[in-house]
Amino acid sequence: MEMQYNNLGKSGLQVSRLSLGSWLTFGKQISDDSAESLMDYAYNNGINFFDNAEIYARGKSEEVMGAILKKKAWSRDSYIVSSKAFFGIGGELPTQKGLSRKHLFEACEAALKRFQLDYLDLYFCHRPDKQTPIEETVWTMHQLIMQGKILYWGTSEWSAQEIMEAHLFAKQNHLIGPIVEQPEYNMFAREKVEVEFDQIYKTVGLGTTIWSPLASGILSGKYNDQFPKGTRLGMEGLEWLKERSFTQERIDVVLKLSELCKELGLSLPVLSLAWCLKNPNVSTVILGASKLEQLQENFKALEAQHLLTSDVMHKIEEILQNKPIFPAY
Ligand code: NDP
Repeated sequence: MEMQYNNLGKSGLQVSRLSLGSWLTFGKQISDDSAESLMDYAYNNGINFFDNAEIYARGKSEEVMGAILKKKAWSRDSYIVSSKAFFGIGGELPTQKGLSRKHLFEACEAALKRFQLDYLDLYFCHRPDKQTPIEETVWTMHQLIMQGKILYWGTSEWSAQEIMEAHLFAKQNHLIGPIVEQPEYNMFAREKVEVEFDQIYKTVGLGTTIWSPLASGILSGKYNDQFPKGTRLGMEGLEWLKERSFTQERIDVVLKLSELCKELGLSLPVLSLAWCLKNPNVSTVILGASKLEQLQENFKALEAQHLLTSDVMHKIEEILQNKPIFPAY
């Protein structure tokens, strides 16, 4: 099926509904050749957005992606590339992370060098920084745009209140505000996307680039029977992620989902990704993949969307039993 494109929030930036991210894979879990084959397949099948961050493999993920972009020599106007600042690349000094003007300016310069690019299309504040006034962050992002170093900016895992504070300050001072938020969204993490941001999709026109659509692979179903070897949740140093993602309660839900998949003739990853795509407030689903076959499989989510009728969505809801509730007014 042909790729579909969406405006990112109220901006004019057209982003593909599926995109590709590099967290834990590029420069870490997979070889640079594998990373290249993933990007190649993605680009040739209509993906125009590649997501990255300073912290991913402590800068190496950006280097790997930048080298691939250079080698491929795709026209610069045909793709969107992002980075994110907040966590730094490992330095522990107070000036080496956060959302101060100092760190954002230096992190952006460093990301551009690692990517070997002149500008980033999208720049995210990777987390809110409680120690920096939002005003300083908004001013800096605006200035980075004015300097031509970034084109658009957004937030990741900010609250609706923090996002609105940024918008209000930007509006009062005629500055360019954020256009997009990058929240976690999958069948197990629904609150922010489905309830918290509900109003601001309509008011400021928030776009979303959602992460971990397969809850780090749990929703692929491969953890159902046994713990497979050589996968993300078995990686050294990611015990915290395993603890968070791999619970019996979740596996029980995924087992029920796999029964539904059999009825529909879909694989679990395809069902789970199509479910994310069904949400009209999701601008793009960022895919992660450690193997080309996974990416190829995951692309089927585009055409699977039409199989998720209201009846099927209702059945999914009955299995999940976690529909977020709107507060009573
Ligand atoms: P997913 O939840 O989809 O997890 C992807 C992983 O699941 C793959 O690397 C692979 O891991 C496994 N997988 C994927 N497809 C299949 C398949 N068809 N069958 C079996 N296993 C499969 O997404 P990510 O967590 O990777 O998030 C996507 C992107 O979102 C990231 O790359 C990053 O760009 C962004 N992100 C942003 C965050 C933020 O704070 N803003 C936080 C996290 C991610 P394996 O083969 O090793 O099991």
